[in-house]
Amino acid sequence: MDKKIIDIKKVTRIYKMGNIKVNALRGIDLKIARGEFVAIMGPSGSGKSTLMNILGCLDIPTTGSYFLEGVDISKLKDNQLAEIRNKKVGFVFQTFNLLSRSNIMGNVELPLIYTKDRIANRKKRNLEAIESVGLTDWIKHRPNELSGGQKQRVAIARALVNNPSIILADEPTGNLDSRTGEEIMAIFQALNREGKTILFVTHELDLAKHAQRIIYLKDGAINGEETISNPVDAKEMLKNMPKLEDKFNSMEEVDLK
Ligand code: ADP
Ligand code: MG
Repeated sequence: MDKKIIDIKKVTRIYKMGNIKVNALRGIDLKIARGEFVAIMGPSGSGKSTLMNILGCLDIPTTGSYFLEGVDISKLKDNQLAEIRNKKVGFVFQTFNLLSRSNIMGNVELPLIYTKDRIANRKKRNLEAIESVGLTDWIKHRPNELSGGQKQRVAIARALVNNPSIILADEPTGNLDSRTGEEIMAIFQALNREGKTILFVTHELDLAKHAQRIIYLKDGAINGEETISNPVDAKEMLKNMPKLEDKFNSMEEVDLK
């Protein structure tokens, strides 16, 4: 079996708006090995989300080829693409994209609707995914009862529930404070140690350095690449970061004086 989980060649994506063409991707070549943990960086508008959407089978290239676990994605019809997306890809968004009227279990079970698995088995997988992000005590809660970090953990559980080959996260910590962002990185690193292939987009070099490799995008093209020989360990970082609760406590103390 091909050890490259992702292999794209000369991928372009041109958005057409009226008679204007936007060259969002201008010929990207990229290979990702199974089990890699990769960060994508680049200025706003450089094509990061466009690339992630293509890798996640939410969109297809205008030209170029994309092989995901050896399957030629560019040749698939819409329904086949949807099936591949559901089975092979877990997607995490900056804005969480949770269903506000469903509790955690309801949100996490969403990708399971398309599986032929028995109900008891689905429930087991649902609870396992929730447990893996540490939210077992919260399963009946709805998104508006959760913190930003908890919401993102629900989104990660949802991304994991079908046991996909790859997790793609587009600025997953963009709406979170730095400690919570570090906690999300700790979850990704734990998943990666268990063998998951993970790609995430970030604006922050400090976060990108948690990955094994950083890919830099500029103006729709790859502008450089860096191997991180000693990735930052999120669990270690967290030991030296203040907890949010500590901040509240010290504020109360100030008020009392
Ligand atoms: P990034 O995620 O790095 O900020 P994007 O991939 O969102 O960049 O955008 C790359 C370029 O493509 C930008 O110039 C953006 O304005 C344009 N673009 C993105 N999505 C669309 C769209 N749906 N229609 C037209 N242009 C788009
Ligand atoms: Mg983006």
